[in-house]
Amino acid sequence: MQLDETRRALAKTGLARAALPDTFLVSLYRATAPYRGCGHGCRYCDGRAEKYYVDGDFERDIIVRENVAEAVARDVADGVALRESGAVALGSGVTDVYQPIEKELGLTRKTIEALVPTGLPIGVLTKSDLVLRDFDLFAKFPAAFVAVTITTMDERLAALLEPGAPPPEARIEVIRRARAAGFHAGIMAMPMCPGIDDDEESFARVAEAAKEAGAEFVYPGGVTLRPGRQKDFFSRSSTAIFRTAGNCTTNYSAKTGRRECRSSSDRRRANGAGTGCSARKALSR
Ligand code: SF4
Repeated sequence: MQLDETRRALAKTGLARAALPDTFLVSLYRATAPYRGCGHGCRYCDGRAEKYYVDGDFERDIIVRENVAEAVARDVADGVALRESGAVALGSGVTDVYQPIEKELGLTRKTIEALVPTGLPIGVLTKSDLVLRDFDLFAKFPAAFVAVTITTMDERLAALLEPGAPPPEARIEVIRRARAAGFHAGIMAMPMCPGIDDDEESFARVAEAAKEAGAEFVYPGGVTLRPGRQKDFFSRSSTAIFRTAGNCTTNYSAKTGRRECRSSSDRRRANGAGTGCSARKALSR
């Protein structure tokens, strides 16, 4: 693959130690991600926020750290960061290490190979079934933890919210195969988007699919709306999504990005009504 020079970057460090274990993957170390930006292109992605400074088109102008595996191998060999026992997590908040570009470049796989000598457990969070490719490597670690993000089992809605990611059913298959391989595995059901996929019926479908696949947990979480392009999606979409959703047009403030009133589903629950979601239907059209 021919990379645009402006998208090449150097990884200065390979492994970073957290002050406290990460609350998502319960990891003490994080391997530098090979990429910044993400071809999965999730509309709600927190990585689009201004605070992370990802230049260019977040889902197309992916920054590639071609030397990441070498940087990880160097840090592992030095043993500088590895004075305590703790799991190593792959990735960062502004990328999915199994996004489409990884299929061609294989930098995540090389990074995992470089981590094998640590003898520490490994964890990864992804939306892609490309992770299945590396299960042979995960088996070389004392323990592996595969977390898969799924917020809806509605394929059409997922394709709108996460246009570059594999469909939910393919992600459920990752859980099934991870459990069969003896790895820990579960679902990060986040971010649940108010008025779009946070109703009980939608969440129940995710939970049922998770249970059927043998997931060890389903961990729900809310959406963040920091200033930036991610917030813009909800601001713009408020017209399209919420036009037919009645009185929740002020859910997301274009000015602050904060949720400023309860969603239609919240209101309906409060009124004792069912939890059908007109916002989701509007988005799916
Ligand atoms: S997969 Fe994760 S990092 Fe990639 S766009 Fe979606 S939310 Fe962002």
